[in-house]
Amino acid sequence: MRRPAADTASLRPNELEAVYAISKVVSEAENIDAAMDEITGLTRAVFIFDSAVLYRRQTGPEPLEPLFARVVGRGRSAPTDLVWGEVAANRVLETGETFVREPSVRRGTDRLDQHFYLALPMVAGGKTNGVLVFIRFGGPAYTGEQVNLAAFIATHVSQLFERQLLVERVANLEAERRLARLQDEFIAMVSHELLTPLGFIKGYTTTLLRRDTAWDENTLREFLNIIDEETDRLSELIENLLDSSRLQSGTLHIELKPVALGDLLGDILNRTQTRYNTLRISSESPEADLYVRVDAKRFSQVFDNLVANAVKYAPNSELRIRAGKQGGEAEVRLSDDGPGIPEEHLPHLFKRFYRVPERAAGVRGTGLGLFICEQLIQAHGGTIGVESKPGNGTTFIIRLPLADPAEEKGATPHA
Ligand code: ADP
Repeated sequence: MRRPAADTASLRPNELEAVYAISKVVSEAENIDAAMDEITGLTRAVFIFDSAVLYRRQTGPEPLEPLFARVVGRGRSAPTDLVWGEVAANRVLETGETFVREPSVRRGTDRLDQHFYLALPMVAGGKTNGVLVFIRFGGPAYTGEQVNLAAFIATHVSQLFERQLLVERVANLEAERRLARLQDEFIAMVSHELLTPLGFIKGYTTTLLRRDTAWDENTLREFLNIIDEETDRLSELIENLLDSSRLQSGTLHIELKPVALGDLLGDILNRTQTRYNTLRISSESPEADLYVRVDAKRFSQVFDNLVANAVKYAPNSELRIRAGKQGGEAEVRLSDDGPGIPEEHLPHLFKRFYRVPERAAGVRGTGLGLFICEQLIQAHGGTIGVESKPGNGTTFIIRLPLADPAEEKGATPHA
């Protein structure tokens, strides 16, 4: 069936009024759902239908996606039995024309099972981008005037629909652009972070390989130490990148076992002291019977990261570690006396790649450390937070659920 020519002369005064009211809703609409609710209400006053479905054309195996659907008349008591108008809508997509589909009335069939479809194209720029389907349960059949009226309504809904598509397209474009920018920044930052240690390794190795110079023992060791440290930095960076992407995709394996927190911290602190032999550490051990369920390797990783940050961002500061039971949880506090972190940065600190600009200058890093810490602690069912005031140092607070007492009996200090 051809689309009727726009002819307002054929509309009755109350129909004209409804069409104007609908056009007003469309011009003022901010949200397609709310606007469609109003439009179906206004349409009901002048046009009989039991349900209405607005479809959008999409690419892929399913050409139609319902954007909006309402059952307003008969059949309303069973909205789950919403009758879709896919067959009629598909025909409109193929032809671009209004389509009426009426059942051949058979005796003995429940009238409500006889569905009368009126499907109208949503056209913009000569393309059918969607279909509006009206359905009547048990008739009456659509008259020529009613199809004409529905075509007016569909023209207005078309505009609403187009606006919605445009809004979505702009949002998609913005998201794509943001993603592309983030990817570029990420590649630039990671390349820089990878190239710096590689540059050192290459430079010192080339120097050592020169045949025209004989290096004394001290210089030789100094150069080899630099190569050794930079290689560690490189593998740490790659490990961090891998962990971060495994955490994002949920594929990082964590094995929780009940562990005495005091023993675990004792071990970590011994290692830390060996690694940073000039670092001053003061610690208060928790109760001996304080058990937590942790993956010892991953928990140590969190701790190492926080200590490495304190060494980087609070140089020469003493490190204080306190652990104990707090409100039904285990709490570990790690404090330094460094320059602290301005308040506006605190809510972002655990985000991937976030660095405090005024602290980042001259200090190497990627902003991955605290993101990984938070994700790992969350994987333990715990939380990590930060308290800091510029000039007053920084404290990181880890809270973990206590281990089940039944499990504690069989627990070893940690594996
Ligand atoms: P990175 O150290 O690679 O920059 P992190 O995620 O470990 O990344 O830390 C994020 C930011 O938090 C750091 O860039 C730094 O600005 C800030 N920060 C972390 N720990 C401290 C600390 N102890 N004192 C001051 N600032 C800190």
